[in-house]
Amino acid sequence: MNTPDRTIKLYNTLSGKKEVFQPITPGHVGMYVCGPTVYNDVHLGNCRTYVSFDVIFRYLTLNGYQVRYVRNITDVGHLNDDGEDRMAKGARVAQLEPMEVAQRYTVGFHDMMRIFNTLPPSIEPHATGHIPEQIDLVHDILRRGYGYERNGSVYFNVRKFDRENPGQYGKLSGRVLDELLAETRDNLKSQDEKDDPADFAIWMKARPGDIMVWKSPWSVGFPGWHLECSAMSTKYLGQTFDIHGGGNDLKFPHHENEVAQNLGACGCAPANYWTHANMLLLNGRKMSKSEGNTITPVQLFTGDSPFVSKGYSPMVVKFFMLMAHYRSTLDITDEALQAAEKGYRKLMETNRTLQQIAPRTDDYDGSESDTDRAILALVEQAYAGMDDDFNTAIAIASLNEAGSYAHKLANNQLAAAEVSPWVLERLKTVFNAFVFDIFGLQDETANSGDTGTVEGLMQLILDIRATARTQKDWATSDKIRDGLAAVGISVKDGKEGTSWSKV
Ligand SMILES: [Zn+2]
Repeated sequence: MNTPDRTIKLYNTLSGKKEVFQPITPGHVGMYVCGPTVYNDVHLGNCRTYVSFDVIFRYLTLNGYQVRYVRNITDVGHLNDDGEDRMAKGARVAQLEPMEVAQRYTVGFHDMMRIFNTLPPSIEPHATGHIPEQIDLVHDILRRGYGYERNGSVYFNVRKFDRENPGQYGKLSGRVLDELLAETRDNLKSQDEKDDPADFAIWMKARPGDIMVWKSPWSVGFPGWHLECSAMSTKYLGQTFDIHGGGNDLKFPHHENEVAQNLGACGCAPANYWTHANMLLLNGRKMSKSEGNTITPVQLFTGDSPFVSKGYSPMVVKFFMLMAHYRSTLDITDEALQAAEKGYRKLMETNRTLQQIAPRTDDYDGSESDTDRAILALVEQAYAGMDDDFNTAIAIASLNEAGSYAHKLANNQLAAAEVSPWVLERLKTVFNAFVFDIFGLQDETANSGDTGTVEGLMQLILDIRATARTQKDWATSDKIRDGLAAVGISVKDGKEGTSWSKV
């Protein structure tokens, strides 16, 4: 496909409706997704968000769009409730250089994205690499009268912005300014400096002890957290681009403030379509570390958690995520994961069976049978599911139904003559396209005796262990080493990386 020929609809948080996707530049898509804050391990909810946008990236690309996918790395500037920079706080506790912490967790994040077989974005800009662009943006906001300086810090004037751009602030999160005000918790120090509680910092003057700081015309300090995404999306995608995505929890204040900053700086809205992935629940409840209701990706893979009866492979976890639409909440339960494991294995087995079916060889008159039409309708239904706001759940259901014909053919429950060669060929192509290219799944189930699979599985296990070691998660790393030793595999860590051998 060279020109996009399908009509894709996506839900736009800004309008609260599904809209037909129309890119600004025909054939091209600019997509910005808020990336991780690398002061901690990437959590499972983030993995879901990035898996969701990976599928969107893949589907748009396969539909012939040239997609520039920008996903940032937040390595500075995220304020805590206590006003402390989260990167610097993590660093002080661990007695490490801030960039050392950022590097460690960036590597861990990339490992996890590889384990989930997501494609790398086209550009992955770091906030610390774009301080001049952020300072420029503060200048633009000040010049247009939407910012003010107090004691070396610069604040965005939300009240004035709201007065001059009625209905803009709060539009994305669907709330009105006064309601938002009641929910806005900010640190008390800067609260004193602000003209209004709704205002937010776009440049913060450093306090004694702050270690990630830069010179600016206002003070030595650091940019406000929301600023980096406005600066980097503008730099790489233009003042207005197509799709801005992120997790649901970023709608307010992060995305709301991003919109205000862009409108404030240049009078233009950053993105035409705002897309948000919904959150993961654990046994029906929001995941929360303080309540102990949480599970990490590694715990899910190893089974080392009271919430699961065993480990689930990364592809099973990914398939579990894809079984739900990205805008629905997704509840992690042991039963649901077991069902996903069955579903994943069935889909892989169906595909293998399908790819081995030989087309009919008797005289074929070119006519279409009822079975042909039924198969083609299901194939179309799978694509239509994806066209309708990237509904992977519908696509999977349609593929499963279409796949039942493959099993019937393989078991001779259906005469080979019932399916035209070209329809069989189409089904094979579509299955491969969905499973590997659109969903980005890998077949972990093929030929259990073959060494290629063992190599692949060992690589996967060692990747997980390497991630655990990077994060100084010795419990997981030792558990993997001891578990492998128990089945006769010894693991050796060396300069060139980790190797393994059968004892
Ligand atoms: Zn962002």
